[in-house]
Amino acid sequence: KAGPESQSTARYQSIARNHIAPALGRLRDHVFTSGRGLRVETSDGRSLLDFTAGIGVTSLGHCHPAVTEAIVKQASAIVHVQCAIALSEPYTDLVEQLVGMMPSPSLDSFFFWNSGSEANEAAIKIARAHTRRNNIVVMQGAYHGRTSGAAALTRSKTSFFARSGPLMPCVFTTAFPYWHALGVPASTPEDELVRLAVHQLEQTLQQQSAPEDTAAIFIEPVLGEGGYVPAPASFMRALRGVCDRHGILLVADEVQTGFGRTGRTFAVEHSGVTPDVMVFAKGFANGMPLSGVVTRRDIMASMPAGSLGGTYSGNAVACAAALATTRYMQRHDVLANVNARSAQLFAGLRTLQSELPDVIVDVRGAGLMVALEFTQPGTNKLVQDACYDRGLVVLTTSIYPVLRFIPALVVDEAEMAEALAIIRQSVLAVVA
Ligand code: PMP
Repeated sequence: KAGPESQSTARYQSIARNHIAPALGRLRDHVFTSGRGLRVETSDGRSLLDFTAGIGVTSLGHCHPAVTEAIVKQASAIVHVQCAIALSEPYTDLVEQLVGMMPSPSLDSFFFWNSGSEANEAAIKIARAHTRRNNIVVMQGAYHGRTSGAAALTRSKTSFFARSGPLMPCVFTTAFPYWHALGVPASTPEDELVRLAVHQLEQTLQQQSAPEDTAAIFIEPVLGEGGYVPAPASFMRALRGVCDRHGILLVADEVQTGFGRTGRTFAVEHSGVTPDVMVFAKGFANGMPLSGVVTRRDIMASMPAGSLGGTYSGNAVACAAALATTRYMQRHDVLANVNARSAQLFAGLRTLQSELPDVIVDVRGAGLMVALEFTQPGTNKLVQDACYDRGLVVLTTSIYPVLRFIPALVVDEAEMAEALAIIRQSVLAVVA
């Protein structure tokens, strides 16, 4: 029977069909009406276990009390302090807090913006201004955003920029050490993948983008929208070496990987490599729109006055949310939980893979940024649907049959066990 809940859902769906840009696309035309921790409620009365965290954003879960309290407090004090007019308390407190969280003390000069794409736009400008060079080298499979410059750096799917060209010129592509990008078997050892990818990079710098014209190499330390593939530490070190030899800036896009997602505060810490520029967003403000770029003071000083900025740069409420989120992460050792739950997730998925070796070709990732890759195209979407019907929201990623798991960093043991049981039932139902 059509109760009030399904009537309101039908109304939302009709508005979406008629008036919301179809370019957005959606997993389902459901409305999430509230969220607490790992659970979201829908307008038709369902409760779902959220293993997307809004694509790695709600690190402490939906509506974490510490963050909500900080948002309410700041919203009652002052919402908008325009950064060209004055500073806000949360803005300066957040900078002080972040200085202490950086992978190296050399990263000590910050600029805030709203989204990951915008922060990457700023990183492009910074790299060009500092080196006085034009070219940017990006990885096959990269995702850096959908604004014009960031889209020009994106190499994971043509749909992100189809029909929008011409995009920013002077962007050149090299291979990420992922077997698909290199066209080699999935069983290829890591050393060999790195050797092939470094060889490709050398060719890129000889045949496409001369080192003396190259401002920056951009890399996601764990390839995100391109398939959830961690960059081996030896590849990160090789990039650092190439950049040092040629005066090229190494830019780490930690928009998805930063702030605990991979089991370390930043994913570059797994390799010990310090980038020259680091871009972050998503998980550090628990849902408020906030992003940032950090670099060395001498590099940031290359930007002429007025060349960075924006009406909402470092919005006071967003900064208050980020301050509360990052303080909570440190005080409650959220990283320890990430690593414990990561081990549980990997163990469950690897057991499933060992039972279905012809169905699942790979289980990979870092921390709570984990993926299953299937052998057959389309299996990921079928399993995603089957999971949703059983009450678990998960995402696919890349042009390959990859299903990814990116829950809040505070996911507990029982929630992880529940998700693993649903994933298992869903995979078995699809491949039966
Ligand atoms: N860089 C990376 C690595 C990302 O994962 C994303 C978002 N998925 C972006 C940039 C773009 O961020 P935003 O959607 O906030 O513009």
